Parts: sequence; structure tokens; C-alpha cells
Amino acid sequence: MADSMIEQAVATATQTNAIELGENALDAAGRLFAEQFPGRRVLVVADENTFAAAGGPVVASLEAAGVEFAEPPYLFPGVPTLYAGYENVEVLREHLAPLADTVVCSVAAGSLNDIAKLASGELGRPYLQVCTAASVDGYASFGASIAKDGFKITRNCPAPVAIVADVDVMAAAPARLTATGYGDLIEKVPAGADWILADELGVEAIDEYVWTLVQSTLRDALARPDLIGDGDRTEISKLAEANIMSGLSMQAMESSRPASGAGHQFSHVWEMEGHGLDWEPPLSHGFKVGIGTIASCAMWEAALELDPATIDVDRVVAAAPTADELARRCRQLLQPRIAEASLPQILAKHLTGDALRARIELIVDRWDAIRSRCAPQLLSPQDIMDRLRAVGAPHHPTMIGMDWERFRLTHFKVPLIRSRYTVVDMLSDLGAFEDVIEGLFAPDGFWGRHQTPDA
Ligand SMILES: [Zn+2]
Repeated sequence: MADSMIEQAVATATQTNAIELGENALDAAGRLFAEQFPGRRVLVVADENTFAAAGGPVVASLEAAGVEFAEPPYLFPGVPTLYAGYENVEVLREHLAPLADTVVCSVAAGSLNDIAKLASGELGRPYLQVCTAASVDGYASFGASIAKDGFKITRNCPAPVAIVADVDVMAAAPARLTATGYGDLIEKVPAGADWILADELGVEAIDEYVWTLVQSTLRDALARPDLIGDGDRTEISKLAEANIMSGLSMQAMESSRPASGAGHQFSHVWEMEGHGLDWEPPLSHGFKVGIGTIASCAMWEAALELDPATIDVDRVVAAAPTADELARRCRQLLQPRIAEASLPQILAKHLTGDALRARIELIVDRWDAIRSRCAPQLLSPQDIMDRLRAVGAPHHPTMIGMDWERFRLTHFKVPLIRSRYTVVDMLSDLGAFEDVIEGLFAPDGFWGRHQTPDA
């Protein structure tokens, strides 16, 4: 079933034509390249670590398929850990530009994939991706997450034309890379609830096919974090598959909506602030997303205990911030360049007066449906925390270098950065956001009970 899902997803993908996932997948790299890029030369791109992991068999496979090499493999240094900085995109792009008729075959985990994707995209060239770890959902997505001037941004560029994911290579990857892939994937749980919410409120309809792409393999892939942490090949293969399916869902939607909700927005805040970018190795996307997922599920748990029918709508509408007040809050809480980039997005979803009244009435009207659809989609914050611990990922904000007050404040930044409608926005619309966060951090609230990591 799983294989047919990925085949079906590839058949309908707009940018990715072929995916080889499984045992001995590296052997298929040459054939895929020759099929997808007839007559083109190859530039194998890797860093010293990823080349050691898979470079030899990839080169051998390309040679066996009769692919012409433009040059010997281009290797970035392995130390310090390569990070997805725009300067590295420029280095690769300038190297690739004069090589006529040449297509990149990147042998890479998340960061170098993003570098190769954007460098190729800026030159209007396709590329082939060989995944060396199950570490991200971004292999098959369109767009690259790249740091520029100290903070991360997402640039539009096409997904790879073909993807190779070899189970043995991914199972042999450093454990932290696999754990980070789990952190990226588990956010699809509350992200699904955020999408259901937006669907119920008529903000953003669910596309059933895209929903199936991201959600159908998700539960099974998340079910055995202990085995993933132990390096189990079967479970790591499921993790890689589910992350690739998530990427294909974003490719199909041309949006990250299917795979990214409020939990990802915590990570976006920290990425825009440059948190952990200068660490060695840099703090990974999936580690931040994992912590954001706990936070999102904690908010969801509190949200589903609300009874919107008891809300004093007149009071909430009267107390709602004006656009000016919202802009002021945005500039107070966010760094200036982040505030200016975010303001148009949050003003686009900001409601006041009769529009806000209608939204609250709609939430009240749809509440039973929201609860009955979201509750079975969600996992408890404790469950998320336990699974992250089992897989070997950071499972408490302090484990990613967040001091307590900064973590608490992040909750108030999340509603200010993106137009995407999530649980955070519903709580804000209901005038309940600040009380819910206060409750979570009170001594008997979820975070009040978890001020230090569980043993
Ligand atoms: Zn992600």
C-alpha cells in the first residue's frame, strides 16, 4: 500500500517525475539520471560527510549508466557542519553556471539539498537528489529554506526531478539527523488539526487528495520512535517515506499548508531570530519544530476544553485590537525587519467589528464539528514529549537553548508572523488567547508542570 501511495503521488506530482525508495536504491541513481536528463552531463555535489556516506556508489551507478561527468565531484567541507546559507548557494551557482548542459546530482541531507535546489533553480536547471538521511520533509517540496543575513527565509524554486532514498544509507546516518526528521514529521499531527479548523471556518478548504498524501502514512511512521532511535531500518524507511510524502503534498498544493501549522511557526520565529544558527552543528529545523509541536498540542488541548458558546461576544469585539494596536504590538515583540515583513500578512487575517463578530459566531456554530474532527487528529502534548524523548530528540524548550521567559514570549510572537490560520488565531478571535497561555504556564498548567525536562 505504501509503495503504491508514493507511486500515485509521483504520478500526480508536477515537478518530481521519479522516486526510488528502498534497499539498494543508490544503484538506481545512474539509470534515473540518464532517463530524466538524456544527453546532459552530471556534476555530483556533496559535502565530505555525505560523499563518504553514499558518494562512491552514486558515482559508480552514474558511470555504469554511461552518464558523462562535467567534472569530478564538487565537495563542500565536512567540518564545520555545512549550513544552508545563501553564500553557499552563490558558491555552488557560480561553479555550476559555466558548466554547459550540466545537471546537479546532490548527495545530501537537508541543508545541502536546499543549497543545490536553490542554486539549480536560480539557473533554471533541474536536479536529482540522493537523500543521505531521513532528516527533513523538504526533499520533495518546492522552495528552499536558506539563511541570509543571519535569518532563515524560504525561497521559491522547483523540487527535484528525481529522488533517490536508500534505506541502508539513511539508517547509517548520524542519529541526530534521524531524530530531527521525526521532529519535522510529528508536527503534521497538529498541522492537520489546524487545517481542519481552517476548513470548518471556510478560511482554507481541505484538498482531500493532498490530505491523504500527508496523513495516510503519518501515524504508522510516528508509531515506534524507540525503534527509530535504535536505528531500525524498517522504521527509518517509514519515516523517510512519510517525510517525502509530506514534501509531495506541499508540491501538489504549492503551499506548505498540508505539512505546517502553528508548531512550525514556533520554529519560524526562532529561525527568523537566527536562534542556534551559529552553533556547531547548527540547531536543526526538526529539533525546533518538535518543541513547537509540544507547544501547539498544549494549546490545542486547552482550546478543546473551551466552550465558545459562553463567550461574551460584545466584550470580545469591543476589546479586540485595532489594526494600529496590532501593528504596535508587532513592532514591540518582533525585531524590526521581521515586523515589517510580517505586518502585511497578519493585517490580512486581522478581523474587527462585525467581521470579528461573524467569525466568533461561526466558531460557535461549528464548534461541535471542530471538536469531533480535531480531537481524533491530535495527540496530547505529553505524548509528543514522550515520543521526542524516545526518538532521541530534544523534548523540552531548555534542551534547544530556550530560556523560560523567551519560550513563553514566543507564544505571543507566533500569531504575529504569518497569515496562515491556526489554533492560535482561533484563540485570538475568541479573545481567549492570553488566558489560555497564562493557564498553560500557571503552576497546574501543562508548562507549569513541565518547567524542567522529564527524566
Ligand atoms: Zn518542516
